[in-house]
Amino acid sequence: MTNAPFITYNSGVNTQPTAAGDGAIRAVLFDLDGTLVLTHIDFSAMRAAVVEVVLAAGIEREAIEGLDTLTTARHASAILRERHGEDEARDLLHRAEESMIAVEMRGLEGAEPAPFAREVLRELADQGIALAIVTRNCRRVTEAAMALCDMACPVVLSRDDVPRYKPDPAHLLDALQRLDVAPAAAVMVGDHPMDIQAGRAAGTRTVGVVTPGRPPDYFVASRPDRVIADLRGLLPFVFGAT
Ligand SMILES: [Mg+2]
Repeated sequence: MTNAPFITYNSGVNTQPTAAGDGAIRAVLFDLDGTLVLTHIDFSAMRAAVVEVVLAAGIEREAIEGLDTLTTARHASAILRERHGEDEARDLLHRAEESMIAVEMRGLEGAEPAPFAREVLRELADQGIALAIVTRNCRRVTEAAMALCDMACPVVLSRDDVPRYKPDPAHLLDALQRLDVAPAAAVMVGDHPMDIQAGRAAGTRTVGVVTPGRPPDYFVASRPDRVIADLRGLLPFVFGAT
C-alpha cells in the first residue's frame, strides 16, 4: 500500500514524529464512528432527544447551553441530584441514555466500513502493532456497528466502559494501559478535532482522517502530526516512524 494520499498543508503543520525514545510506534488507537465505520447517526437528533428529556425533567435550558450531548445528560443529572436526590438523577440519566441509544441504533442502518479500514487493521495486526478502539458510542451500538462491518479489535472501550471519555485523555490512557504501550509509542487516529485534542493531551502522536464531504483544511486548527485523506495514509506514518 504505497502512494497513499496525503493531504499536506503549507501552514506549518508538523508532519514529523516527535516522540522520545526510539520513536517507533507500537500501538494505534482508533476512533470508531467516521474513522473505521461509517454510520448515519443523526447527532442533531440525538442532541434534540436528550434536550427534550432534560427540559421535561424541569431543568432550565440556560443550564445546558453550549454543552455537548453527553455532557448535557451528565450535567442535568448532577443538577437533579442536588435538587431532588440520587433516584431522580439516575432516572434522568437512564432516560437520556435510552433516547441517545435509540437514535444511535437507527443510525446503524446501512453502516459500512470506512474505505480501507479492514485492510489497514489487518495489516497493522499482522505487523504486530497493538490496536484499540476508543469511542464515545455506547457499547451496544459499538458492538453492533463492528459486527455489521465484520470488524474486530482486541481492545474496545466504549463510553460505557470508562468513567471519563474523549476528549478526556483518560479514555486513551486506559486503552494504552491495557495494551501495555506508552503514549509516546502510540498514535491516536480520528476524524474529529476532539480525537486530536485527546491524543495530544494523552501524549500520543495524532493523525486526522479527513472524511468525504469535509473541507481539506478541516484539521488546520487542531494541528495533528499528520492529516490523511483515507486510512491507507496511516501505514507509512506508523511504519516510517523511527
Ligand atoms: Mg468520529
